[in-house]
Amino acid sequence: MVAEKGMLIVVSAPSGTGKGAIIKKLLIEDKNITHSVSATTREPRKGEKDGVSYFFMNKSDFKKMITKGALIEWDEYCGNYYGTPKKYIDDVTAAGGDVILDITVAGAVNIKKECPEAVMIFVLPPSIKELERRIKDRGTDSTADISSRLEFAYSEFNNIGDYEYAVVNDNLDTAVEEVKAIIAAERMKYKRNPLILDNLYKGDLK
Ligand code: ADP
Ligand code: 5GP
Repeated sequence: MVAEKGMLIVVSAPSGTGKGAIIKKLLIEDKNITHSVSATTREPRKGEKDGVSYFFMNKSDFKKMITKGALIEWDEYCGNYYGTPKKYIDDVTAAGGDVILDITVAGAVNIKKECPEAVMIFVLPPSIKELERRIKDRGTDSTADISSRLEFAYSEFNNIGDYEYAVVNDNLDTAVEEVKAIIAAERMKYKRNPLILDNLYKGDLK
């Protein structure tokens, strides 16, 4: 059953853990979920498309979005700005769709303040060695970026207590199944479906 208002599903993890890979599979398997496209000042990587991977922009345009209140949250990460456009989330969740966000820990904590009902999932790599292997083998970041991302990763682990769920991404398919199980359980929470009796039984309840 789809809830009356869509959920905000927040996924965070140190860079290279595999949250992008998990979200990609999840979106194929669950058509009620869409991915929010963030704004960023980072340069596009090979293969990334404007408006699909991110809305790529310069710092001045990013700051204008902040001033206009167009971002529900934003953060600075390894020298670049990243932020979540508010309108898309409001429109999709109002129509009953779920939106998944792939954002930094600081951004996630801010979202939770704005939207306490957001579902908070922290994805963990199976080991630090494997995290290093994945971020290096991904082949998308310079050596300097890899070291700053790994350096930052250690501080991110300290914030796991702000999340409700921890999923270990050892086997990708298993991790996707675990995220799907979390989402399924969250959708069944009564507080997300306060009109369930009226909707199911219409006027038949005495
Ligand atoms: P993130 O979005 O967290 O930065 P990515 O989704 O880009 O990470 O994944 C980082 C790298 O690790 C990619 O090359 C991806 O294909 C690989 N990867 C993701 N999950 C797994 C997994 N469970 N086992 C092995 N490699 C993985
Ligand atoms: P990347 O440069 O690898 O695409 O992303 C770097 C980090 O920025 C990742 O941890 C990713 O989750 C985070 N990120 C992407 N979009 C946003 C956003 O809109 N807000 C925040 N706070 N973080 C984001």
